[in-house]
Amino acid sequence: MRATQAFIPTLREAPKDAELISHRLLLRAGFIRPLASGVYSYLPLGLRVINKISNILREEMEHINGNEFFFPALVPRELLEESGRDKVDVLFTAKPHDYFLGFTHEEVITDVVRNTIKSYKQLPFLGYQIQTKFRNEPRPRGGLIRGREFLMLDAYSFDRSEDDALVAYKKVRESFGRMFTRCGLASIAIQADSGAIGGSLSEEFMVLSEDGEDTVLRCSVTGYAANAERCEAIPVPAEAPDAEVPAFSEVSTPGVKTIEEVSAFLKVDAKRLIKTLVFLAPDGSPVVALVRGDRELNEAKLGRTLGGPARLADPAVVERVTGAPVGFAGPVGLPASVRIIADREVATVRDGVTGANKADAHFQHVLPGRDFPAPEYLDLRTAVAGDQSPIDASGVLYTERGIEVGHVFYLGKKYSASMHAEYDDVDGAAKEFEMGCYGLGVSRTFAAAIEQHHDADGIVWPITIAPFAVTIILVNPADPAQTEAAETLYTTLKASGLDVLLDDRVERPGVKFKDGDLIGVPVKVTVGKGVADGGALEIGLRRDRNSKQAVPIADAAAHVL
Ligand code: ATP
Ligand code: MG
Ligand code: MG
Ligand code: MG
Repeated sequence: MRATQAFIPTLREAPKDAELISHRLLLRAGFIRPLASGVYSYLPLGLRVINKISNILREEMEHINGNEFFFPALVPRELLEESGRDKVDVLFTAKPHDYFLGFTHEEVITDVVRNTIKSYKQLPFLGYQIQTKFRNEPRPRGGLIRGREFLMLDAYSFDRSEDDALVAYKKVRESFGRMFTRCGLASIAIQADSGAIGGSLSEEFMVLSEDGEDTVLRCSVTGYAANAERCEAIPVPAEAPDAEVPAFSEVSTPGVKTIEEVSAFLKVDAKRLIKTLVFLAPDGSPVVALVRGDRELNEAKLGRTLGGPARLADPAVVERVTGAPVGFAGPVGLPASVRIIADREVATVRDGVTGANKADAHFQHVLPGRDFPAPEYLDLRTAVAGDQSPIDASGVLYTERGIEVGHVFYLGKKYSASMHAEYDDVDGAAKEFEMGCYGLGVSRTFAAAIEQHHDADGIVWPITIAPFAVTIILVNPADPAQTEAAETLYTTLKASGLDVLLDDRVERPGVKFKDGDLIGVPVKVTVGKGVADGGALEIGLRRDRNSKQAVPIADAAAHVL
């Protein structure tokens, strides 16, 4: 594609109301435009990414024998009445007929299956589609993160037995994991609440992000992770007034002596989630604290916990305590006498009192109203499945924010029973299908990828889902030598199957470089003055400013390929 022919309306500024970074960059880099609240047009660049993601999903579905369908968006009211989901609050209705706009398609595929799959010989069966979904979200947010109209891959499995259904569930769960990885997303699977869809076993794929709407609870010892939604709430004990709940809690533990060990122990990425800083307690002793937020906030919070003014230690103290100069990135030792504490996001379990795997284990030091919207502590009873507690009392529970990008459910017979979907089993008896359903937010994955991959200048696309793999910046289209070198490379790279954007606009070079960084194409080739007399052009990676290399024109194509 040539930039002179392409529709890529970049903006210098994002609208004020766009808060999430992905929303801002999608607008600024010309990937989407709003039409109404939670409703967006995909511009050509946006559609390219959607298509790249969809292709990966299709390949992975094909790999596990998924059959692709395309179901209607218009769903008759009577069909949802069969399952009782005609009362779901996010439903849009389509007038003048009595249709709902599909918000997920369990009933639709179950209707197809009950009319076509008659025998156990036709099982197992896995169907899926990639389609627009409609949900009347009360608060659309963050551009593509929460829309009223969005794209989803929804898959459904039909099996003979619970065991078979669980095999299907695991297969799709693994497939989802591969999809996210191939899209360049780091995600974790966590235990989830089944919500309106119903069913008994469900896990969500979360992309950890400070701006996520979901709260993920993780145990530092076992790695067990669950959505806080899943945890039952109990009332705040009257004897725990705000002022007595310290903002920080102790995480010093035997055997944990270095900051690296602390972050490994907490299973948190110290660099991403927290800063490890040395403070001076009111008595002048050093305290190593795992904190978030700015200096003043931390000094105030720490002061409350330690019962007097606390301040950030100066570099000389840090050097004395850690034995390493400030800014040193390697492992540092800490004297045994130094206290290590973490802020509320890394709250400790009330060990010694109730223990996290005891019946009424709570998050300790979580301030209702401040840490969680609901006025309550979180009770982890429901997060603890069976006899084997997934939470270890010797560890800590900590919270992180996440964006739910996928959700897998084992449904059992919820829909097949209410909708009378049956097949004839080997013994001739009619049996209801065992089902599973699986949803992956395609448009949300698109946005989440930007949440994970951007810098101050714009998007930094993973190559697998980038709208273009390579951009060629023709610095001066009026220079025949530059134009010829750029055109030749453009033709060669395209012929080898790469998506290439040639910036042939008559614009100042600065504008082209800025736009190129904003759009985030992984490989950048700059064709400038250097190409005179068969000289060199410059090839670099978007994600690494230091990767620029001068490459002779003759070697350029081979270098990119
Ligand atoms: P959320 O908790 O964010 O409202 P959900 O649990 O209601 O999502 P599911 O019914 O599990 O969503 O749908 C499967 C997937 O569809 C989600 O994991 C998410 O990636 C995506 N999704 C759901 N609602 C939206 C939305 N309003 N906009 C964009 N993507 C969405
Ligand atoms: Mg929802
Ligand atoms: Mg959810
Ligand atoms: Mg969900």
